[in-house]
Amino acid sequence: MSAENKLPILHSAFDFHQPPAPELIDKCVHCGFCLPVCPTYVLWGEEMDSPRGRIYLMKMALNGAATLNEKFVSHFDSCLGCVACMPACPSGVEYGKLIEATRAQIERNYHRPAFEKLHRRLLFATFTHPARLNLLRWPLLVYQKSGLQSALRTIGFFKLLPKSIAAMDTLLPPVTPIEPVAPVTFAQGEKRRRVGLLLGCVQRTFFSHVNAATARVLSAEGCEVVAPQNQTCCGALCVHAGEESAALAFARHTIDIFEQASVDSIVINAAGCGSNMKEYGHRLRNDPAYADRAQRFAAKCKDVTELLAELPPRAKRHPLQARVAIHDSCHLQNAQGIRTQPRQLLSQIPGLTLLEIPEPAICCGSAGIYNLVQPEPATELANRKATLISALAPTPDAVATGNPGCLLQLQSSLANSSHPIPVLHTIQLLDASLRSAPLASLLFQ
Ligand code: SF4
Ligand code: SF4
Repeated sequence: MSAENKLPILHSAFDFHQPPAPELIDKCVHCGFCLPVCPTYVLWGEEMDSPRGRIYLMKMALNGAATLNEKFVSHFDSCLGCVACMPACPSGVEYGKLIEATRAQIERNYHRPAFEKLHRRLLFATFTHPARLNLLRWPLLVYQKSGLQSALRTIGFFKLLPKSIAAMDTLLPPVTPIEPVAPVTFAQGEKRRRVGLLLGCVQRTFFSHVNAATARVLSAEGCEVVAPQNQTCCGALCVHAGEESAALAFARHTIDIFEQASVDSIVINAAGCGSNMKEYGHRLRNDPAYADRAQRFAAKCKDVTELLAELPPRAKRHPLQARVAIHDSCHLQNAQGIRTQPRQLLSQIPGLTLLEIPEPAICCGSAGIYNLVQPEPATELANRKATLISALAPTPDAVATGNPGCLLQLQSSLANSSHPIPVLHTIQLLDASLRSAPLASLLFQ
């Protein structure tokens, strides 16, 4: 970014570098149709914690009527970026672009308190680097298996720590053996597609069995699966938190890697990553070396359920006797408009009964690093979702979702509820059906 871009706009709280676009802000007609689906408005009923209020604040900052102070920033930090407000908006306000631009402005022009800054740095330095996450596996395994974790929980040790630190323990999934995905998995039968598989950061480290299941299902459905081993983070966590430079560097690297793989499509099984990668064309629009390539790359990106729904089923589906509640990840249903495809795939499994969870538009509170930096509203939203799931009749045997963040969030809230219902990735259920494996075999992965 040039030094000129960092200069403040005259009479504005924002700098020159891609402030929230006035023409997008002005599309908001203040009708309020978005309010009932906004999780923070539902929790607190505060206008400034609604989409309409936040857009108003953006306009004030743009015009110099508001400054980037602690109060102003708190209304944007509390936004989950779930973009439930977008499908609800009759005027087509592109809130996703507005919040992304505002967050990048905040990170450049607002000085966060030292602890908060350090905490965020630590999260980005860890969660966006699979090799570093991998190094943590052994200490975390010892922590879980030695009984130290349960002892510390029993004596209430985490109540003494800041909530943002305690949340890391609450959300920690059981550390299980890594199931690697081969650099190339050949298609079974006649090849229908050659696809690249995004391995993800948290997915690769803590849910490697989900990646392995994805490769098996794609292969069984006639796809050759290429999983470049040198791929890095796609930048989703950074972009959702306003860390623009890091996000763009990850995007460029991801494009380079998958271009070398010469694939028809790039398949993603983490909704947050998928929604980010589909926006690469917009993000890199001002980069002459990448703008066109980013457009072409984004057009190839597909959620795994989206790709499979395009292919007439080929592999035999074996019965799976299970009642499965489906949880739509916000980055799948709102950002990518994908709701029917996961249902379509699960409906192909004989014996499986699908259950719908009330309030599908309301986020579970995961939202990238939101549950680690805003643990209180995140927990409130997770408990609200867990209550709705537990109250379903008949009680589900499992919850299916399409995003590792939602999986962690729901797993942790349901584990503490009266109904510790397991949470699985949608693709695990399809994989179990193809392998004729019982539901119980998935529960300890
Ligand atoms: S992104 Fe989600 S939390 Fe933020 S304003 Fe829109 S609906 Fe509300
Ligand atoms: S629904 Fe759209 S136009 Fe109406 S207040 Fe919300 S963002 Fe503005």
